[in-house]
Amino acid sequence: MDFRLSEDQELFRRTVAEFVDKEVIPIAQKLDEREEFPWELFRKVAALGWLGVRYPEAYGGAGADNLSFNVMCEELARGSMSLAAVVAMQGLMGTDFVYRFGTEDHKQRLLIPALRGEKIGTIAMTEPGAGSDLGAIRTTAVRDGETYVLNGTKMWITSATVADFFTVAAKTDPDAGFKGVDLFLIEKGTPGLSVGRQIKKLGTRGSETSEVVLEDVRVPAENLLGGREGSGMMLLRGILDQIRVMTGALSVGLARAALDAALRYAQQREAFGRPIIKFQAIQHKLAEMATQLEAARTLVYRAAWHIDQGAPDAKLSAMAKLFASEMANYVADQTTRIFGAYGFAMEYDAQRYFRDARFLLYGGGTSEILKNIIARELAR
Ligand SMILES: Cc1cc2nc3c(=O)[nH]c(=O)nc-3n(C[C@H](O)[C@H](O)[C@H](O)COP(=O)(O)OP(=O)(O)OC[C@H]3O[C@@H](n4cnc5c(N)ncnc54)[C@H](O)[C@@H]3O)c2cc1C
Repeated sequence: MDFRLSEDQELFRRTVAEFVDKEVIPIAQKLDEREEFPWELFRKVAALGWLGVRYPEAYGGAGADNLSFNVMCEELARGSMSLAAVVAMQGLMGTDFVYRFGTEDHKQRLLIPALRGEKIGTIAMTEPGAGSDLGAIRTTAVRDGETYVLNGTKMWITSATVADFFTVAAKTDPDAGFKGVDLFLIEKGTPGLSVGRQIKKLGTRGSETSEVVLEDVRVPAENLLGGREGSGMMLLRGILDQIRVMTGALSVGLARAALDAALRYAQQREAFGRPIIKFQAIQHKLAEMATQLEAARTLVYRAAWHIDQGAPDAKLSAMAKLFASEMANYVADQTTRIFGAYGFAMEYDAQRYFRDARFLLYGGGTSEILKNIIARELAR
């Protein structure tokens, strides 16, 4: 056995779970219908100090470990994937590069307010013509004296509509593939930076997603994160395991909600004179869902535990995301089947789980990309 939730972690889980039961679940459907950044709940999460779970106390964080962060993500996703998505962005990808590579000034002005929920951070890597293949991005960053000038278009950027700062991937050497990618910190209000159209989505609709346009955006050279050209992929690699494990945790949370709903429905709904849970076909569905869920959770926690030991395991993190996100889609699909026609009705939660589960298939690597990574690690 290489991991076990500590008493503190269990206590934290119960605290988040109570918040989710009381504050999130009752309005989760509304958040989805409104299709707007969930400010009210986001501010409550910020006030509880949960945006900074994995950051040091010196910057207003809680100084907790990665497993605790993932336990929180799991519980939030059990209530609302939209809320969980914006909190995960703020608590991990949106702020991590400022914490690890920003100047002290950046940390004081951006990171600390972000962990209080007063500023929003996000990451802008994907483009209209390049997602999985980051080496093919076309946004450029050209050095001009003590500044860089950036031009390009980003796509699918979570929370961009409300963001105060962006970690942007751009090419300092357009001909160098992955090796030419760098990361830049760009603040809202910088001339030439604009947020384009908001994308209408199938799921996680309470998390806004938009296009971002950069037209001659000039930033000081110190905003090149990592301090030297050609280091973007290395900086990204330092967080990829965490993104994958976090997405796995979101998947586990969603699947728990779906399985609970399916179980309750199967006990109440009657057909042919008995509750449908009495049919072996339904029992087997539930048994299979529960088994896959437990297996996914074990993988996710184990991968998180490795990160906490300072020994992230790329193969295990990729497996955790692959298995958990596919599992969440399977469980949500089975839930809509158990609900019969009511799984098709917008007034029940089953359809939302089904739609939101699709969100888990992209960020942190698609299933195909993750299989490539696992195979590569196997062959090492
Ligand atoms: C709701 C949402 C929020 C997002 N938020 C952000 C964000 O905040 N910031 C950001 O930068 N991005 C964000 N993304 C984008 C996300 O990271 C990308 O969708 C993801 O990287 C995949 O890229 P793509 O969609 O362009 O697919 P593509 O890379 O075009 O892939 C298309 C298909 O081809 C397959 N494929 C590609 N390459 C290979 C290969 N080598 N072998 C086998 N199959 C392959 C893929 O698996 C997929 O099935 C978000 C996406 C969504 C849906």
